Amino acid sequence: MSEPLHYITLTAPDGEIIGYAWTDGTRIGLVDRAASSSAAYKAGIAWSNRMQDAHRRGLTPAGVLALFSHEPGASPVTEAPDLAVLEELARVVTPADDQRLLDQLAPVGHPSWRELAEAYDALTDEDRDVTWGGGEKSPSGAIQMPYPVYSEPLRRVVRALTEVGAVTPEHRWMDNAMPEAPADGRLMDVADAVRAATAVVRGERFSEGTIAHAVKDGLLDAVVASLRAWAAAQGSTAAPAAAAPAHTTAPAPAHTTAPSVPSAPTAATAGPAPSAPAPVGAAPAAVCRHCGGFPAVDVAFRAHLGLLFFLRFRRMDGPVCRTCGLALHRGFTTYTLCWGWWSPLSLVLFGWLTVVRNLLAVRRVERLPEPGPAVTGGRFDPGVPVHRRPLAYVALIPLCWVLSLIVAAVSGGG
Ligand SMILES: [Zn+2]
Repeated sequence: MSEPLHYITLTAPDGEIIGYAWTDGTRIGLVDRAASSSAAYKAGIAWSNRMQDAHRRGLTPAGVLALFSHEPGASPVTEAPDLAVLEELARVVTPADDQRLLDQLAPVGHPSWRELAEAYDALTDEDRDVTWGGGEKSPSGAIQMPYPVYSEPLRRVVRALTEVGAVTPEHRWMDNAMPEAPADGRLMDVADAVRAATAVVRGERFSEGTIAHAVKDGLLDAVVASLRAWAAAQGSTAAPAAAAPAHTTAPAPAHTTAPSVPSAPTAATAGPAPSAPAPVGAAPAAVCRHCGGFPAVDVAFRAHLGLLFFLRFRRMDGPVCRTCGLALHRGFTTYTLCWGWWSPLSLVLFGWLTVVRNLLAVRRVERLPEPGPAVTGGRFDPGVPVHRRPLAYVALIPLCWVLSLIVAAVSGGG
């Protein structure tokens, strides 16, 4: 049986949530965020040590929490129904968490991107068919442990992943589930691609065959394709006129359907790469990152899901053409109208924020003329407007509820 507990939220100076220190009256614990930065993780250990220390010196667990709640970075003491709720909170992955992983990637135009593309394109079926060595009995009677035999071209891809920065200590892979290969060859969110690359490459050292498994189930392909699509999109916004080594990587993702749910193919990111070749101030020749159509405008569309303590944020960046932009707006906004209200924070903040930002973004998209032909394959199908999608009207439920609360408060107060 779970019991209510008290906790404080610990926040780093840059605003990143480190974790939640709690007590049930007898014990003190810390739930840290699996998606946090390595710096926040270390800070969490330091908080935890100091709190345990204070407890050992005789302060009661409740006293420790009260004392530390006055420190900079700590919230006031709050009550939670049980530990599971805190663990749920700690599972929230924020856009800042995603951005931190993107910041680890080499700037577009860095030679490591070309190396990744070339190494990957050079893979043959034999390279992908990883065999296992070992298992033989030596003359002394010892049996050698089986081990995967990776070809040199495959190892080159793995090295290239490390060199573009996709294998990073900023993803604590041991504390997170292994990302799965997306179905039917879709692209992954680029932050998820970094998570997967890190988990696969680092995981191999602890569990041989992890890379072989990722090759087999398509995860490695999805990781490389997602990273390359991201780099290509970055290149097209950051350095359109340059002699453009950035354009050497460009697999065209096959978009076929409208994104009815926000897990649609995405290679999200934010802004041009910090140290990309100078854009020379000229307006970039914006081309839609989804269909290659022109003109396009650089706006992002977002979707939000809040269910009790589970929050999920999705974002797809531009540039987008009028057609793809409308499709993204309609898909993401309808999704948010349906799913974006069912946690306290979502109801008061994230749901609204997401809808308003999408409305602002779509206003810019609607000013564009119809795009020219789609050059890189599929163009999103905008489908029917949001107000003709039944799911959007789910939003009336929380709205009516809030209204009824207000009415009750007003009439109750005389
Ligand atoms: Zn487009």
